[in-house]
Amino acid sequence: MKLITNRPDFYNDVCEEIRLFLPRAEIALDGGGEDGSSLSVILAEDGSFRADAVFSYLGSNYRYSHETPYVGGSDIIEKRYAKRCVKVAVFRALRKAFPEKLIPWGSLTGIRPTRLLRELIDTEGREEAMRLMRSEFDVDEEKLRLADEIVTVQRPILDSARDNMLGVYIGIPFCRTRCLYCSFASQLRTKKTDMGAYLAALHRDIELGSAMAASLGLEPRSFYMGGGTPTILTAPELDRLLDKICECYDTSGREFTVEAGRPDTITHEKLAVMKAHGVTRVSVNPQTMCDSTLRLVGRDHSSADIIRCYEDVRSLGFDSINMDLIAGLPNETETEMEASLKAVEALSPDCLTVHTLAIKRASRLHERMDEYALPSVETVERMVGMGRETASRMGMKPYYMYRQKYMAGNLENVGYSTPLGVCVYNIDMMEDGMSILAHGAGAMTKRVFAEGGRIERVPNNKDIATYISNIEATNAEREALFDL
Ligand code: SF4
Repeated sequence: MKLITNRPDFYNDVCEEIRLFLPRAEIALDGGGEDGSSLSVILAEDGSFRADAVFSYLGSNYRYSHETPYVGGSDIIEKRYAKRCVKVAVFRALRKAFPEKLIPWGSLTGIRPTRLLRELIDTEGREEAMRLMRSEFDVDEEKLRLADEIVTVQRPILDSARDNMLGVYIGIPFCRTRCLYCSFASQLRTKKTDMGAYLAALHRDIELGSAMAASLGLEPRSFYMGGGTPTILTAPELDRLLDKICECYDTSGREFTVEAGRPDTITHEKLAVMKAHGVTRVSVNPQTMCDSTLRLVGRDHSSADIIRCYEDVRSLGFDSINMDLIAGLPNETETEMEASLKAVEALSPDCLTVHTLAIKRASRLHERMDEYALPSVETVERMVGMGRETASRMGMKPYYMYRQKYMAGNLENVGYSTPLGVCVYNIDMMEDGMSILAHGAGAMTKRVFAEGGRIERVPNNKDIATYISNIEATNAEREALFDL
């Protein structure tokens, strides 16, 4: 498809909107579309912003013009309003062509709805914020209620954050097998993997980062060990790593999550090591309780293993257990989703995270999509609704949410929790509530500046060998970031 615009700086944003309606569209700026389709959006600035969008598709033209008042302010704010105007015009022109498509979050792409709603409530008041979400961004009522509920739950946690607080992330980017839908830069742990070299580098990374945090008076408020699959480590490796974390940081009384992830890597011994080091929250992630789907997506375990593992975690007395499910897995229907939810409900975790399958370009699933029966967007939406109802029956409320590119129907991932199970790290991380100091290959340190919510990042290299050889240099970049 050809994209004609006088604001090429919004190219990515407009492409995201087009792909809401035409997921596989190839879009070129001023390029030639073989099928003759095009989208033109021209932004005029004359006391206000006015965007005129024309979508030409299969011989018809669909037009929409939108005006946004010029509010003045910094360049960043001005650009935000200009982009908003362009996106609204483009979304509505496209929607005229596909009125039957389910797009529940309206023109909100590339932005967290909860963050936008919170900012709008702070600047415009609640009533006007809700009106803007409905009538400017075309968010449907149910999604708006969801965002509103999450903003309410998050508010006291975000308000209690202080400028000198940090979330600390530790990454173990290794797995036992590769899931069909995985697009992470996670490697298989094989006999050839030099885990010793990785862990030595990670220990050094933790020593350097924690020393920097202490020297700048930065205090961790939560810890999160994710992956990959952290429990791919042996019990002695996990023991030494947790020793190092506890030696370098004050973890006492802090929330500490370990994504145990896949039950085929979890043993009683590893869980006991975690408990002995003060880990408070464990995530056991089935994704589905349907054995044939587990085999299909390449997870080397059964639903019985998940139940055994969950009961082991519960018996050790961790404060909070999370379980993840994915709505929209290949070959699944509402029947499988219902069975998975029932099985999870019987276990009664403290948190349930319901993801929507995202078909990322780097995944095996993307390459072989035609080989699988994927549920329709409408079915996935119903599955997501079933997850919401199950969470509610378990006494949980939604407490964080995020969306990814390439998700079915531009839907969302939602974390539900009982009042005592809420993961502060997830909220701080997803809402940019505080800075994150990240250790491990592929992990991303970010500083959230108090003024204006400005965010800057320092990535750790995804390539394990490069990560190992760059530890000191990356730490110097982190120091420069936090010492500004
Ligand atoms: S467990 Fe997670 S990181 Fe590992 S292969 Fe599966 S999706 Fe990827």
